[in-house]
Amino acid sequence: MIIANWKMNGSRRSVATWIEVVSNNVNIKKINPCIFCPPTCYLEYARRLIDENSSSIEIGSQIVNHSFQDESLTGGISSKMLKDLGIKFVLVGHSEQRNFLKESKNVITKKIEEALDDELSVIYCIGEDIDTKNKNETHLFLSEQLDVLGQLQSTHKDKLRSITVAYEPIWAIGSGLNAEKVYIEETHQFIKKYINDHLGWSHLRIYPAVIYGGSVNLDNCEEIISSTDVDGLLIGGASLNSETFYKIYNLS
Ligand code: PEP
Repeated sequence: MIIANWKMNGSRRSVATWIEVVSNNVNIKKINPCIFCPPTCYLEYARRLIDENSSSIEIGSQIVNHSFQDESLTGGISSKMLKDLGIKFVLVGHSEQRNFLKESKNVITKKIEEALDDELSVIYCIGEDIDTKNKNETHLFLSEQLDVLGQLQSTHKDKLRSITVAYEPIWAIGSGLNAEKVYIEETHQFIKKYINDHLGWSHLRIYPAVIYGGSVNLDNCEEIISSTDVDGLLIGGASLNSETFYKIYNLS
């Protein structure tokens, strides 16, 4: 799974150019989905262009809200609306949303549950800050974030295959400093083992996919994707350039 996360960037024009260039040059393999996450306001436009191009690019949403019982939410986007648009994937728990939008574990849990109920595939983002890394507390930090998935093996047992974990160390996002291969391998291994051993997925024989994000570019993508236990890439800045993105996909 290779994901382009455009964050709050782009225009109708750049969305159209990107879809045209990527559609014409990418060699999409079914086992490795190629997912475009434009800003929400361009989701429907992107859907239309991808369909017109008969492209196999999938679309993901950068946001989703959960419903509030007896309350309304101005500006909210529900998983039902995303499904209605033909969106298959949604990012949940991105560090920028945890940080700037103050998303709590409770909110993240509800978003994941509702998205799964509406048949969306969830890319659940986790990752430690630099202080945590320096204190050698990464595993403890990540295990607390992973515990959000703990309930799901009883409430959403049949939907666990629709969850992918994106490991994105916060200090690597947008910094130009990707994590080193050994660190990525060790952390991905920890994440998979924690989900299997502590969240009880192993007896269901469901092996979580874990993808890496954080300053991936054309120069480092081959090394990162070849790392043990790395099942894909989540790419921010470098994905804005259509040529860079399709080359990364084709190399992965
Ligand atoms: C991201 O937005 O999730 C991300 C990984 O960004 P970048 O590739 O720019 O570090």
